[in-house]
Amino acid sequence: MSDSSTDYDVAILGGGFSGGLLAWVLSARGMRVLLVERDRFGRFAIGESSTPMADLVMRQLAERHGLPKLHALSTYPTWQRNFPELRRGMKRGFSYYHHGGVDSGEGVGREFHDECEASPSASRNSLLVTASPNETWADTHWLRSDVDAFFIEQAMDAGANCREHTEVVEAEMGRSVRMTLRERSAGDDDGTTRRVSARWIVNASGRFGVLPDSLMKSIGLRRVDDRLRTNTRSVFAHFRGVKSWTDELRRTNQLGADEPFDPDDAAQHHLTDEGWMWMLRLDHGVTSVGWTQPSGRDPVDWQRYPSLQRMMREAVFDDATPNWISVDRVQRMQLPVRSGNYIAMPTAVATIDPLHSTGIAHGLIGVARLADALLSESSRQSELLQRYAATVEQELMRIDSLVAMCYRCLRSMPRFEAVSMLYFAAAIGSEEFLVSGGDVHSPLWFCGVPEFERLIEQTNEQLDQNVTDAGLWEWLRPRLQSFQSAGLLDPGVRGRYRYTGEAKSSVRD
Ligand SMILES: Cc1cc2nc3c(=O)[nH]c(=O)nc-3n(C[C@H](O)[C@H](O)[C@H](O)COP(=O)(O)OP(=O)(O)OC[C@H]3O[C@@H](n4cnc5c(N)ncnc54)[C@H](O)[C@@H]3O)c2cc1C
Repeated sequence: MSDSSTDYDVAILGGGFSGGLLAWVLSARGMRVLLVERDRFGRFAIGESSTPMADLVMRQLAERHGLPKLHALSTYPTWQRNFPELRRGMKRGFSYYHHGGVDSGEGVGREFHDECEASPSASRNSLLVTASPNETWADTHWLRSDVDAFFIEQAMDAGANCREHTEVVEAEMGRSVRMTLRERSAGDDDGTTRRVSARWIVNASGRFGVLPDSLMKSIGLRRVDDRLRTNTRSVFAHFRGVKSWTDELRRTNQLGADEPFDPDDAAQHHLTDEGWMWMLRLDHGVTSVGWTQPSGRDPVDWQRYPSLQRMMREAVFDDATPNWISVDRVQRMQLPVRSGNYIAMPTAVATIDPLHSTGIAHGLIGVARLADALLSESSRQSELLQRYAATVEQELMRIDSLVAMCYRCLRSMPRFEAVSMLYFAAAIGSEEFLVSGGDVHSPLWFCGVPEFERLIEQTNEQLDQNVTDAGLWEWLRPRLQSFQSAGLLDPGVRGRYRYTGEAKSSVRD
């Protein structure tokens, strides 16, 4: 497509992974696509950890739209073999280690110790939930700058017009959307403007996106952050020289012979009474590190936790982030999801929290649904878009309620394990549904299941009544059974869950 075109089928605002991938899919299928990115392509982005659901949706998208390169990115080994230049890390599962709390008398916490003194009935201060049965099926931590830029490159090869340092400064909604673009180049502060139009405008501007006033006004876009129960703040950056957690466990004689995967090859969650730290190790020596805590209290100095401090002792900021990046409230939500020919990606509608890593999966699900809808004939299209708007909102509220419950239980590992299994049941249930041919347009995370909604409410009521940890397990365990066959919430496995979902579809080279 010529760069001087002025008329498009779809204009996408935002060149992160979700905007870039949608542009790639739609242009590969013959649509005229314009993508504008206000920053540069391949800028630093947070949110690296994919999940089995994310990789499954990526495979299905690739198969549906004939994109073998995308298929190759859906497991760690095929990614590494086919695209060694795209930096990444291996993820075999989710791991959680509880470092306790800080004794206010001493002001210093204890080193991590796996014995769980609080609850003899439950297991230990660690929890490992396996995501893939072996390395062949491993998921991936994405170095977002590489992946996001790769998707843009593929979109351009497929014919999309992708423009960085460009913003929509005015938009007028009608049968089509008429927009004024401003494009900045070096040494040109005002930039040049030009007029274009598109049948659809897709908001893929993510957590930090800001839309032009005229567009916000005409679609009635409003912030509804208060609807979200989760309320956390976060600081994060990329580091070099973060020590290996596996080595740390070995050094302290706490690396069990029964570990289902190498603890370093995971989305590591280091929980404390006050907040938690994620660590995602990438193969080129960089680790994504972030501290997240409930917003209601002053920023916590995580260095009071000796094991965390030891891991970070020799770490230095990577060039990509010369300092910590801080977000006062991580959660943001804006509605509507859709208005006329405006549609927002799930990741532009809301950001919930890094806990449980739902952003990439939800972004990919959004791409799959919108690609289908925009490529459909008109009556099917309006039905799909109507469903899309309702479903995305429901799913975001569901993820929020599952995450918020985990924060309520941060102070106790057995309690955290119990309620996090509601999330894992919903995620595994969705994965099994999709693997068995379920429709990606259907509500996921058990959103269409009122009994599950009720179970969440009742679990919250148990927490309101200060149920004991053992009481919570006893109460929740039988009730969770009808929503899972993955052996979740089993005291017998002592925090080591090895189930990895249904057999996955074949992986191509
Ligand atoms: C602290 C934190 C940790 C997270 N950790 C995880 C995780 O481990 N796993 C996970 O799955 N998810 C995680 N997430 C969520 C994840 O970051 C997002 O889901 C993901 O980045 C969304 O990708 P995106 O492409 O939709 O948006 P983004 O990556 O935000 O990209 C949006 C792009 O749009 C551009 N833009 C903004 N406004 C405009 C405009 N008006 N016009 C043009 N361009 C514009 C921006 O410059 C940006 O490049 C995390 C989020 C946070 C805040």
